[in-house]
Amino acid sequence: MDKSLFKGIFVFAEQREGVIQNVAFELIGKARELADSINEQVTAILLGYQIDGLEKELIAAGADRVLVVDHSYLKDYLTDPYSEALEQVINRYKPEIVLLGATTIGRDLGPRISSRLNTGLTADCTALEIDDERNLLMTRPAFGGNLMATIICKDHRPQMSTVRPGVMRRIKSDAARKGTVEKVEVTFDEQKCKRVRLVKKEREEKNLVDITEAHVLVSGGRGVGTKDGFSKLRDLAETMSAEVSSSRAMVDAGMIGHERQVGQTGKTVRPDIYFAIGISGAIQHLAGMEESDYIIAINKDKYAPIFQVADLGVVGDLHKIVPILANKIKAARQ
Ligand code: FAD
Repeated sequence: MDKSLFKGIFVFAEQREGVIQNVAFELIGKARELADSINEQVTAILLGYQIDGLEKELIAAGADRVLVVDHSYLKDYLTDPYSEALEQVINRYKPEIVLLGATTIGRDLGPRISSRLNTGLTADCTALEIDDERNLLMTRPAFGGNLMATIICKDHRPQMSTVRPGVMRRIKSDAARKGTVEKVEVTFDEQKCKRVRLVKKEREEKNLVDITEAHVLVSGGRGVGTKDGFSKLRDLAETMSAEVSSSRAMVDAGMIGHERQVGQTGKTVRPDIYFAIGISGAIQHLAGMEESDYIIAINKDKYAPIFQVADLGVVGDLHKIVPILANKIKAARQ
């Protein structure tokens, strides 16, 4: 394979009902950084139907070029038409790297495309870099999160990776940024694209808490112990309009819902302040929160690994410290 024929970093700009998903902006931010390091361009691939106007958002977020496939078959996500379109775009433009969000859509689409293109894909990456030979160094947790593996796709192109939402940092949008937009025509295999039809969409009613959006998170671990322990954390959170989140230990113990779990098998968060209270700091937990701007850890064990990533560490009994802290903040705010 002549690898020199493959150029540029492409990002699958996932949109749902005309709204570009945050992960697409985050990936464009990362792609921008990688592309600048090898003097290449960032291209966003936008698939959908009647999606005029979305290109501008992608350019503002850091893309140099947007390739748009606008077709009625692409109105809602369906595996066949999306795979057909993405495969044809990649075959025509020959990118060196393709990034997708590790969302339900990206996880369905990414491996399908990589297998059709006879190339490799590393799923759920937490870090991406490019080495001197232009290999994409794709790092992800392996063996149950006990070690981090860096994987390369040496002999095939494009190099493909999925990244979970919240892992990469989007760059500040700049409406003055300039970029080009190209409409791409794709030929669909009618029979294939019609074999699955979307009959109905039903939205699951769920508690709409999204810990990834919180500026301050008060996170509790096994040390918190009981539901009563969590009510202390809730009191503290209330004083700062914060959200309560948790380690997996407390989710498994049924103390709190999975939608509030931080970590490798939960959510990746990046709040301004992250309180880790009664959390030891297992690698699978750190994977979801170590990029927080400021980490405050409260733990009775001064050797707990969480203190290695904390900006401020308090050694002591959380059951005593948390109520004192809540009262002090309340008093300061009055
Ligand atoms: P522990 O490790 O038991 O720590 C409790 C801490 O509380 C201790 O440090 C202790 O000193 C402190 N403590 C106890 N009492 C007090 C007190 N009164 N005052 C102050 N401190 C006190 N974990 C996640 O969190 N998120 C994930 O997404 C995740 N995914 C995983 C995926 C896999 C494949 C595997 C194998 C594991 C995963 N885990 C995950 C589990 C992870 O390995 C740890 O078991 C878990 O994070 C431990 O939770 P914890 O820190 O709350 O509990």
